[in-house]
Order: sequence, then C-alpha cells, then structure tokens
Amino acid sequence: MNDILKDVSMAHRIVVKVGTSTLTYEHGTMNLKLIDRLSMVLSDLRNQGKEIILVSSGAQGIALGKLGLAEKPKDTKGKQAIAAVGQCELMYLYDKMFSGYNNTVAQVLLTREDIAIPRRKRNIQNTVTTLIEMGIIPVVNENDTVSYDEIEIGDNDNLSAVVADLVDADLLVLFSDIDGLYDDDPHKNKNAKLLPTVYDIDEVRDVAGGAGTSRGTGGMVTKLEAAERATNAGIHMIIANGNNVDSLYDILDGKPVGTLFVSKNFDKEEE
Ligand code: GLU
Repeated sequence: MNDILKDVSMAHRIVVKVGTSTLTYEHGTMNLKLIDRLSMVLSDLRNQGKEIILVSSGAQGIALGKLGLAEKPKDTKGKQAIAAVGQCELMYLYDKMFSGYNNTVAQVLLTREDIAIPRRKRNIQNTVTTLIEMGIIPVVNENDTVSYDEIEIGDNDNLSAVVADLVDADLLVLFSDIDGLYDDDPHKNKNAKLLPTVYDIDEVRDVAGGAGTSRGTGGMVTKLEAAERATNAGIHMIIANGNNVDSLYDILDGKPVGTLFVSKNFDKEEE
C-alpha cells in the first residue's frame, strides 16, 4: 500500500455521493437492490465508528417513475414540483432501509444561498456536525423545490464537494455509472485506460467529456469541478462505479479503486 492509499484508508469523516443514474433504472424506477446495499454498507461503516454523510440525487429522477412521466419538465416550477414528490419518496425509502440496519438518517436540503450567507452557513455546519456526533447519517440534496437558476448549486457533484468542505471531511467518494476517469471516452474508444491517480486536474481537463444521462445532471465536467473544490480544500476524492458500493470497504482497506484525486494538502501533511 503506498502512502496516498494509506492516507485515504485512514479517512474518518466520509462524504458519499450517489447519482440518479445509479439509484434508478432507465425509466426512473428505483434500483432497490442497490439502495439496500448502499444502506447496509454505510450503516456498517457507521457501526465501525466512521462518520458518514450521504449526498443523494434522485429526487427528480424518482418522481419521473412515480408520476409516469417520460422526461423532466422544462420549466422551473415543473422541476420544483416533481422534486417535491421525489424527495419525499427518496427519504421514505432511505428511512426505511437504514432503519432496517438500525441506523438513523436525517434530511438536509441546501441551496447555494445557504452556503453564501455566513450566518446560514454556520447554522448548517452546526446542524450537520451535531447530527454526525449523534451518530445520525445526514442525507443531503439540493433544495430543488425552492431552488432556481440564480441560487442553485445545480448538480450534486458540486454539492457533495461543497458539503465535504463544509464539514471538513477527509474523503469524498462520488459513485457514478462509470468506473472512474479514463484517458479517452470509453464508450467510443475501447482502448481507453482508467486513470488511477490524478494529482493535477489541469492535466486531465481535456479528457473529461460533457453530458451524463437524461436522468441526472452530472457528467465528468462537474466531477472535475468537484475534484478541484475538494482537493483544494484538502480532501481526497474518488470517482468509483456505483454498481459496486462494497468498494467502499476496499477503499478503506487501502486498495486502489476507480480514480483518486489527491488532496492538495497531501504533501504538506506528509512533511
Ligand atoms: N437534486 C437533483 C435531484 O435530486 C439531482 C441533481 C444531480 O443529479 O446532480 O433530482
């Protein structure tokens, strides 16, 4: 195990982000097997004494399935309305699944404004920290119901990095529908290679393609933005495949998983 993987394996406060494409099947119905496994693994890590914060997308995606809609509404009020439906469903399910593993979750909904205004930011930090200290797993999402273009963070990749920074996490794990960052688009080039470790985001910016799926909002671009924010804040970040959430155990065993973006503080810490 090299020094960086060892440092990652010692992470105590961990933010885990799951995207809509991981949580739902193609038509917006929920991937119950995956959500159950995620609840089990996170509960187990919590039982081991780790501090866990879950950033979960899926409100709007799940609402599509629940309401039988083929695609997200284009207008803001339509998106806000379906998010209100889906968020309720999402938390109902997390509450039920985590309770089954004897763990408690709490809903935290944020917008950019909440982070930008110092008094609100302090309150959020206090609340989330208190929840963690109480042994509760906060489940964070954007407050889509009140959010609109000017005040939204916009995607949960960036939101998860904001949250990791806010709570001074040691590690951020973004579960995606891909194994990590490749040196070329793996959907188009079968010889594309997974990049195991990234120290300098500027060196990989060109290889990150654009869009994600129609159900989520993130792609590699937003993941690199998140990596930049996290690593600048002294937090390691990993992109890993959400189809195997058990890889969290491997990460905490110091094994290489997905793509690791190394914290900018790493060298300083080592000296
Ligand atoms: N907040 C959105 C939702 O729950 C997801 C945003 C994202 O996927 O990045 O539907």
